[in-house]
Amino acid sequence: MMRMPLGEYRKKRRFTKTPEPKGSPAVRRKSAGNLFVVQKHRATALHYDFRLEANGVLVSWAVPKGPSLDPSQKRLAMAVEDHPLDYARFEGTIPQGEYGGGTVMVWDIGTYDLEDDEDFATAYKKGRLTFTLHGKKLKGRWSLVHTGGTRQWLLFKRTDRYASKDVDITVDKPRSVLTRRLLATIAREGGGDVEKAASGDPH
Ligand code: MN
Repeated sequence: MMRMPLGEYRKKRRFTKTPEPKGSPAVRRKSAGNLFVVQKHRATALHYDFRLEANGVLVSWAVPKGPSLDPSQKRLAMAVEDHPLDYARFEGTIPQGEYGGGTVMVWDIGTYDLEDDEDFATAYKKGRLTFTLHGKKLKGRWSLVHTGGTRQWLLFKRTDRYASKDVDITVDKPRSVLTRRLLATIAREGGGDVEKAASGDPH
């Protein structure tokens, strides 16, 4: 993160083919600085992209199983390239054959507060981020902890009144928080692969 802002993001994408945002300085200027977003992404495999705003970009992790409200369920989170802030409201279809080809849904969005007095870069470098989420689906305290390699982290809920062993939030709340659509509808309306997208919806 933060070494070469958005260089890796832009290098991986052909903006003549994909509708994903290039990154607009205007969006960056307007932001309050503590946005978080979770995007459900049916690409080669289904995963949830977990993103926290820091220093003008969305620092990002891909979480194959998605978040769990059960503190004993620690979910693998692979660090991926920083994304531009305007990506937070991107929902639609990335053409097949392009990087990340498939369907993207804004599954949750809101703000977050980092715990302790540390700044984000310091906490990231130490491999330990604890924060409170103010989303529509995800709330309360969460942690991301670096466990090994260059990219491997764990995302998990901390114990508080928003924790639950009984609710599977990815199954119980499968729809877009922006448009209430399921993946299949987003794919259909975006000219994508509906059947592939539908395999990421609960059935
Ligand atoms: Mn993704």
